[in-house]
Amino acid sequence: MSIFKADYRFDKITDITAADLKNAGAKLLLLDADNTLSLHGSQKPASGVPEWLEEIKKEGFVPVIISNNSENRIRPFAEKLGLPFVFKSAKPLPKGFKKATEKFGFKPEETAVIGDQIFTDVLGGKLFGAKVFLTEPLGPETDFFIKIKREFEKFIR
Ligand SMILES: [Mg+2]
Repeated sequence: MSIFKADYRFDKITDITAADLKNAGAKLLLLDADNTLSLHGSQKPASGVPEWLEEIKKEGFVPVIISNNSENRIRPFAEKLGLPFVFKSAKPLPKGFKKATEKFGFKPEETAVIGDQIFTDVLGGKLFGAKVFLTEPLGPETDFFIKIKREFEKFIR
């Protein structure tokens, strides 16, 4: 089903180039945190992520962290990276995506959702009308419910 299919697939977020984002028509980048920018729950960005963000910002893109995780997890991480953020965004519901697009004045079609999970990032991004970039999870999940979702994802990926 197409609402479960990403528009683009990459191994890691740092493999996505400015040209890839431009070709997709994206200006606002809504970035998942856990297993996309860092290991699940980790305050340490994955290798190359701070440099990738600097490059992307220099190219004029607007990156924002949109996470379903808590304020305690997301605020210090986002502040360290110098990024605006939405925590407890309830993906795949559109409220976090909507908040960010309205705040920065972009339309859904000028937006790329980048993340590692089909039932939150891909489904949410597709329902919102954004371009979706699916990455491979950086590491194993620690959360029980995410582990179960992963089992269902195997049938769709
Ligand atoms: Mg994730």
